[in-house]
Parts: sequence; C-alpha cells; structure tokens
Amino acid sequence: MLQIEEALKIIRNQQVQVKTETRELSDCLGFSLFNEISAPFDMPAFDNSAMDGYALCGISKEYKIIGEIAAGDESQFRLSEGEAVRIFTGAKVPENTSAVMMQEKTKVSGNKLFIEQPLKHGQSIRKKGEELKKGEIVFQKGYTITPAGIGMIGSLGIDKVEVFKKPIIHLITTGNELVKPGTLKKGGQIFESNSYALDSACEDFGFSCKEKKQIQDDFKAIKNGIKDSLNTADILILSGGISVGDYDFVKQALEENGVQEHFYKVFQKPGKPLYFGRKENKFVFALPGNPASSLSCFYIYVLPLLYKLSGSVKKGLDRLNLPIAKDYDNKSDRPSFLKANIQNGFVEILDGQGSSMIKSMALGNALVFMDATISVKKGEGVDCYLIS
Ligand code: AMP
Ligand code: MG
Repeated sequence: MLQIEEALKIIRNQQVQVKTETRELSDCLGFSLFNEISAPFDMPAFDNSAMDGYALCGISKEYKIIGEIAAGDESQFRLSEGEAVRIFTGAKVPENTSAVMMQEKTKVSGNKLFIEQPLKHGQSIRKKGEELKKGEIVFQKGYTITPAGIGMIGSLGIDKVEVFKKPIIHLITTGNELVKPGTLKKGGQIFESNSYALDSACEDFGFSCKEKKQIQDDFKAIKNGIKDSLNTADILILSGGISVGDYDFVKQALEENGVQEHFYKVFQKPGKPLYFGRKENKFVFALPGNPASSLSCFYIYVLPLLYKLSGSVKKGLDRLNLPIAKDYDNKSDRPSFLKANIQNGFVEILDGQGSSMIKSMALGNALVFMDATISVKKGEGVDCYLIS
C-alpha cells in the first residue's frame, strides 16, 4: 500500500493548468497574485507628520507660529530657523522642518510656541520612502492576498489586480443511509454531515464549493453525477462509497467516466481507502465516508492541490513541532493523524480517535502526525498540522 509521503508527492507533482482573471481590489481577498507587485512610487510619497502637533525649524525651546497645514494640504510653507507651523497627522511637512513635536508637549501663547520636552532631529517625521522605495517588490507572484494585503495594494493606488482563478469545486456525498439535517430520520439512517464539514473546510481556506450533490448508493446515479460534475468542475470531491463494501460504487463509476487512478489506498489512519485520480485537467478525490477520515484527508491531501490550482505559494496546512503534554502510545499499526489540541505551547492528543468521531476534531485545533506503534514521552516534540 502507498505510503503517505508517496501519495503527497503524487499530488505535488501534478502538472496543473492555472487560469487567471483581473479582479476589483475589493474582491481579491484570498486570491493569489499572478504578477509580482512593485511600488510605483516611494512610500510614503512625501515627508509627513506622525503626530498632531507642530513642525519646527531648528532645535530650540521657543518658536514663532507662522501658519497651519492640515492633512491633504499642498504645503506652501518654507520654514526659517525658529519658525513653526501647526500640523496634523499625515500632513506634508513644510520645507526645512527639523522635527515635529506632539501638541501634548507644547504650550501656546498668542503666536508663541513653547516646547516642554527635549527635541530630537527628525522626530515624529515619517520620511519619504521609509517603508518602500519606488520600484521595490512589495509582493511576489503567488502571494495570497490578506486584508492587510488589500490595504497595501490600495495604498499603492492599484484598483484592479491580476490573480489566479480559484478552482471550481464540486462535492458529491454518497450513501443510502444519509438524510439531511433538519429532516426526520428513520431507524438505520444518519444525518448527512460530510458535505457541511467539507464545504466549510473549503470556505475556511478561501475556497468554495460551486455545487453539492447527495446521491444514493446507486451505480448509475453516481456515474451520472460524476459525469455532470466533470463537465464543469476543476476538482471533484466525493465522500463515501470508496471502500470495499457491496454498495461502494464510486471507484467503478470513476473508471467508467474515464478518470485515471493515480492512487487508491494509503497506509494511514484514518483514511486508508483514499482515492485520487485525474481526467485531463480535472482532478478527483474520493474520500472515505467516515466523518473524521474525510475531513482529515481533505486537510492533508485535498488542500495542497487546491492551493496549487489557485496559484498560491502555500503548500498545505501550517505545521509546527511542539512538545506533547502527556505520554502517548500510538497503538495503530499505521502512521496516524491524531486529533489534538494545542494549548500554552503543548499539544495534547484527544480522546475519541475513531475514524467516525468528529467531536474531538471539532474541539481540537490540530492533527498530530505519529508513526505506527510508537511511544512518545511527555515533552518530546511531535509534528502538528494546524487546522484552525
Ligand atoms: P462509506 O465510506 O460509504 O463506507 O461510509 C463509512 C461511514 O461513514 C459509514 O458509517 C457512513 O454512514 C458514514 N458516512 C458516509 N458518508 C457520510 C456523510 N456524508 N455524512 C456522515 N456520515 C457519513
Ligand atoms: Mg457508503
């Protein structure tokens, strides 16, 4: 059976065809840059005041106030030694300004200004180009735009940004036993929850499912559902029906749709019956139906491909090596992703590691990777994948 690292390598090595689009700046959150962005001008573009106060010429204790400059004013002043202007935060400082003194440390009498604190040359002046020089690269290609990134790009005067398109995701859940939350369930039925979890996992990382379908364990229906999705989706995620039961039709339905298998079954817990395939430029993951398995496989295997398809430089979940809070014996004979919680710099492996158990994942914030049949002593470092 395939090892985890081999499966991940197969995903990493996929050649993908990315698409690009130009978006309004306000609509760019979570998109990755297709081009690097460099500064079109110095930032700040002019020396300006960091305070509400007085711009001063020369270092002294007393000045003559000769006028006022507000933010946005095109300053006409040229100060001479011993002169000051009233100035406000962000306003362009006049020529010959030695320093700005905040108003709280001054006294005014008529047009006389008295400074009540020692002054330093250059104090409270934001210098032209101190953050960025014209032409300097601000963001590399593949930078995934954050709220601060949007602010930064806006401050450069850019309102339209060329970004990678995000992949179109379709989600198909399969199972006769599944009924929608909020409806009545009969004996033997369970509430369908994977589509909710997987959809919101996509959302959590800035992706969204275009279409969600719930299909019975019916070969023809599954085959048709896959066919339809492959017409429009860039990536199709299925849940359930990929194991070896008599009603597990997904693998055959994928084959009959011309999807080429890249791997099936990974030596891991949870999520052994994980399938990954491709048809031309469309990718397919079939995740095991157990709720914790499907979500764990999403985080470890699907997310890296979503990032790749969206042009991001990110490779997957953020990882940390942290000391374990208590001794832990991994009794599984397979390498495991264990539901865990990081708190105060330590990671605790949670109760409820069953593949069907999602409560521990919901209460935790990490998956800990641990080799098969290994004992880890309190304080030893373990590899944590951060899920929130
Ligand atoms: P399967 O992979 O189809 O054999 O399903 C494995 C287990 O996961 C079974 O107990 C299913 O009832 C459960 N399961 C499958 N799909 C879902 C789903 N969408 N929501 C919640 N549980 C599911
Ligand atoms: Mg099933």
